[in-house]
Amino acid sequence: MKIYLASGNAHKAAELRTLAAESGTAVSIHSAREVGGMPAVEEDTGTFVGNARKKAVALLPLLPPGAWALADDSGVCVDALDGGPGVESAYFAGPQGDARANLLKLRDTMHGVPAERRGAKFFCVLLLRGPGGEEFVFEGACHGRLLDEPKGGAGFGYDPLFVPEGYTESYAELGDAVKNRISHRARAWAALAAWLGSRPSGNGRPVES
Ligand code: IMP
Repeated sequence: MKIYLASGNAHKAAELRTLAAESGTAVSIHSAREVGGMPAVEEDTGTFVGNARKKAVALLPLLPPGAWALADDSGVCVDALDGGPGVESAYFAGPQGDARANLLKLRDTMHGVPAERRGAKFFCVLLLRGPGGEEFVFEGACHGRLLDEPKGGAGFGYDPLFVPEGYTESYAELGDAVKNRISHRARAWAALAAWLGSRPSGNGRPVES
């Protein structure tokens, strides 16, 4: 199966490529760049699935016959912010989508919030859409807590502020090898890989129930 990543985010694409390679699934992963780049999409549906669908639908017409589009929509959901910024994570500090500004805004918004109210989770929807409009959705979450100050230089986005449950270091300190074992995206990919493993290979059709 040929899968094109419906994303212009190089970090997400790199993580998904690694996850695909390490899961040993019989798919070839391609970037949107190979077909002229990811078209601009307004992420305005208010849901992870809705936004992921818009990305996949935007890319599909550019793909070679038979190829599938895989979209990732994800974000950090903070308990003390009633689940925000959540689906708005990419635009928390404004429509320009500045990752550093988003990180610092989250740090500042959480300033003074005590340890017991700093719970958060990362959430990821992976939406796989086929050439005939068939669609499969996979989700993953990683629970943890937010630091007072960003720490670590690896990863992207909010990684330096987030400590996953069972760890004392941020995603950005733990680095890619650990993150790719435990992350929201890794868990969504695991669900996708399990589904891929359960379907007949090579014919590009969904499993019929
Ligand atoms: P979107 O999926 O295009 O709406 O963007 C998701 C936003 O959530 C990104 O811009 C990041 O700020 C954040 N995000 C999603 N996944 C991660 C992650 O693995 N680490 C850090 N930030 C992330």
